[in-house]
Amino acid sequence: MSQARQIHLKSPAELEQMREAGRINAMVLKSVKDLIQPGITTAELNAAAEVVLEKHGCISPFKGYGQPPFPASITVSVNQELVHGIPSEKRKLKSGDIVSVDCGTIYKGFVGDSAFSAAVGNISEETQKLLDATEGALKIAVEKMQPGNRTGDISAAIQQYVESRGLHVTRVYTGHGVGKQMHEEPQVPNYGVAGQGLPLRPGMTIALEPMVLVGTSATRVLSDQWTVVSADGSLTAHFEHSVAVTENGPLVLTDL
Ligand code: MG
Ligand code: MG
Repeated sequence: MSQARQIHLKSPAELEQMREAGRINAMVLKSVKDLIQPGITTAELNAAAEVVLEKHGCISPFKGYGQPPFPASITVSVNQELVHGIPSEKRKLKSGDIVSVDCGTIYKGFVGDSAFSAAVGNISEETQKLLDATEGALKIAVEKMQPGNRTGDISAAIQQYVESRGLHVTRVYTGHGVGKQMHEEPQVPNYGVAGQGLPLRPGMTIALEPMVLVGTSATRVLSDQWTVVSADGSLTAHFEHSVAVTENGPLVLTDL
């Protein structure tokens, strides 16, 4: 079966449900973002996320995902941790850190998936540039979600935006289709060649997620079997939105 045939195009009614899942996911992330300050633990951030999820009768697809089963509803990744950090009551944020929070929400059978990186207290100008470049790459990627473009146009735009700022994109972890499953086809890498890949069609829903590293693109996984860190210990950042292609252009599903 060709890859294109495995892609489930969402109807307008399904997109409305995905928009609701995405809106709740945005509320979860906002509640976490509002708490970020020196002294809070990453476990406390997870607990706050679970309060909002419960209030809406939702669960996160992260909890129990994979092997070993992921133990929390959000991932919290600090500094050199790129993605998949496990919340812990032993991990206290301190001024100068940057923290990346990723959350999923399942609402009426559909998944919203988004992430942000933020400063804890005061950060250096260089670190702020990393956050701005990563968020900017996501914005550029969203703009490419137009009928007639191809997935390679998204990938190339992210890579070009990041590398032109002297930063690096992961070669291992990718954006992905999102819908009834957290991870659907197609994969959308953070690097690629414009004009290649699958054509974008109305009803396609993709989680775009630039993952950016200061030193090199190389990563490794810690012994907890989840936390992905930069191989050289340099800082990293991650922003993500779930986005639909519509006749009228991109529709960000995971905005507030
Ligand atoms: Mg995510
Ligand atoms: Mg994702």
